[in-house]
Amino acid sequence: EEPKAPVLLSQEEQEYVRLTNTSRPRVKAAYVVLVRNSELHALRSSMRYLEDRFNRKYNYPWIFLNEEPFTEEFVKLTQQMTNSETHYGLVPEKHWSYPDWINQTLARECRETMAHNGIVYGGSESYRHMCRFQSGFFFLHPLLDGLDYYWRVEPGVKFSCDIDYDPFQLMVERDLKYGFTIALEEYRSTVPTLWETTLEFIKTYPQYMYPRNKADSLFRMVTDDNGQSYNLCHFWSNFEIASVKFLRSEGYQAYFRHLDRAGGFFYERWGDAPVHSIAVALMLSQKDVHWFYDIGYKHDTFEHCPTEPAWLVHGKCYCNPLTSFVRDSGSCTPKYLEITNSSTDQYIVTRPD
Ligand code: GDP
Ligand code: MN
Repeated sequence: EEPKAPVLLSQEEQEYVRLTNTSRPRVKAAYVVLVRNSELHALRSSMRYLEDRFNRKYNYPWIFLNEEPFTEEFVKLTQQMTNSETHYGLVPEKHWSYPDWINQTLARECRETMAHNGIVYGGSESYRHMCRFQSGFFFLHPLLDGLDYYWRVEPGVKFSCDIDYDPFQLMVERDLKYGFTIALEEYRSTVPTLWETTLEFIKTYPQYMYPRNKADSLFRMVTDDNGQSYNLCHFWSNFEIASVKFLRSEGYQAYFRHLDRAGGFFYERWGDAPVHSIAVALMLSQKDVHWFYDIGYKHDTFEHCPTEPAWLVHGKCYCNPLTSFVRDSGSCTPKYLEITNSSTDQYIVTRPD
């Protein structure tokens, strides 16, 4: 299959692109972006970063999803940013609407209260559909059929280091299921009953749990008191390189259905990051998860920047290691390193020669 050439190029230019485009994706993988038409230019910025830093050498396809049809302009101007295939998918209505067991009046009242209490996105209805979609549905979209891994991207994110290896290939070689760059604490007011709802799930479906008494369990990533409460730690899911099969697994889907029934996506403001992360911590083991230490990444005000002096010389990053989020008191990465009994330098994938 030939990658699609950008539409705005002349015949001659298209031929040039086709001839020079010798690399092919090695892994069944793609970028997946949920995005609105209005975010076109912030998205083109994210694409530019990833294409320049990595994808111009690997040509992994891009998949864009939206609950509204993409405009022609959106399609044209995103195709123009890459030599790879681009795919545009519509979110089915049942993945972006209220299930019939949700009391919509109560949901509105909850939003009003949360907005009144100043909770970020507390009053937003669309944000809740978004979080529910990212928690339970995006991976079911037919455009992801046949993919082993996805790399989640958002509009307006930045990648500050050259990526000189294929992260998807790393996932395959090490049989990884989940990769992150930033781990942090959630606002408790957005997830007051998420943990008790999770405990019900654990009790009902013990068969899906990774044994928490094993040395390589990740359970301690999300609880500091042996399961009595959630410590709010989660992997920041706006960056994710993860296994499609894991999210499509019976265990993960049973977890999502259980949460969805409880209504917290609407009555509270459960985010997809704590949901993914708790699932990872309950159902996977330490060897399934990778910290992409060497991928410099910025979303909004938080930035991950590699900090190892020896690596920085080699790593072609522009970010400032002194302001990397890993040093922030709200970072959960130190906890991750502690429970996995590992150190930063073990996560450097490529080293200076
Ligand atoms: P934040 O990262 O929690 O501040 O939330 P964002 O506003 O960045 O939203 C997370 C992701 O969902 C981004 O990729 C957005 O482009 C996307 N998104 C958020 N709301 C909507 C929406 O209503 N429609 C669509 N199509 N995408 C959305
Ligand atoms: Mn965002």
